[in-house]
Amino acid sequence: MRYYVLDRGDQLSVELSEQFHKLAAGRGFQLDAESPEIVISIGGDGTMLHAFHTFIDRIPNIAFVGVHTGHLGFYADWKADEIPELIELMSGAKSADQLKPRIAKYPLIEIEIYKKSGQTTCIALNELTIKGVDGTIVAQIDINDELFEMFRGDGICISTPSGSTAYNKSIGGALVHPSIEALQLAEIASINNRVFRTLGSSLLLPKHHHCDIYSRKEQRLLLTIDHLNIPVDDLISIQCKVAEQKISFVRYRPYPFWNRVREAFLG
Ligand code: NAP
Repeated sequence: MRYYVLDRGDQLSVELSEQFHKLAAGRGFQLDAESPEIVISIGGDGTMLHAFHTFIDRIPNIAFVGVHTGHLGFYADWKADEIPELIELMSGAKSADQLKPRIAKYPLIEIEIYKKSGQTTCIALNELTIKGVDGTIVAQIDINDELFEMFRGDGICISTPSGSTAYNKSIGGALVHPSIEALQLAEIASINNRVFRTLGSSLLLPKHHHCDIYSRKEQRLLLTIDHLNIPVDDLISIQCKVAEQKISFVRYRPYPFWNRVREAFLG
């Protein structure tokens, strides 16, 4: 098995990373930074975002596993003291509750950014946010090429189902099960008056729909794609849709999404 480990860089994550390499060598796993089959993220959900973007060009060929060294995560579901068990399961020496490893595939968002200076395509695992640098933003939102609303406010968040528990949740968006192929559009502090009228609630677009966000004034914007910040001062529009490709996670044991939601937010 070809593998790669990406850790958060704190002492515990580095130590676990070293432990993983040692045990993996004993099982004959091959460390491969270029074309791993499995990428192990050790840290938190934020570390998984880094791992995802590090291997963004090889997503269809990789399965991810997350080990958390802080609180329980959504992408990182193995505990710090479970590395030996994880290695055993990865090597096939042991199977949890007689279950075979399963691949869970989660939807991603494809983002086309059109600027006066050029066009870029990006993929998000959690979300895209569009915010103003100098204050409120003005944007026209079209759904499937028809005008939907004129937005004025702090910003717009477009999240994946697995990203729905992150920034989207903080702005009142719904939690969406990752088996639902959809993207969620949520407002960040919209201003409502006679000129600017928005829906006020978040909405889900299915896989075959798309939305376009047109910049409607000269404005300096900050786009965030997961943990990445992209300042843009010449935006024309952004198109978002559910991506064709998905991210794969190897599940050596079941850990249902709603259990993770309960553990993370309700205790
Ligand atoms: P960060 O500001 O250092 O961490 C943000 C927090 O979001 C961390 O606690 C992280 O968990 C958690 N998180 C990341 N993905 C998640 C998910 N899918 N479900 C639930 N929680 C999640 O930033 P970062 O570590 O570079 O991560 C960037 C992400 O942070 C963005 O994609 C955005 O979703 C999120 N964020 C949230 C807010 C907010 O809620 N107000 C503000 C800014 C950014 P770990 O501690 O396990 O890494």
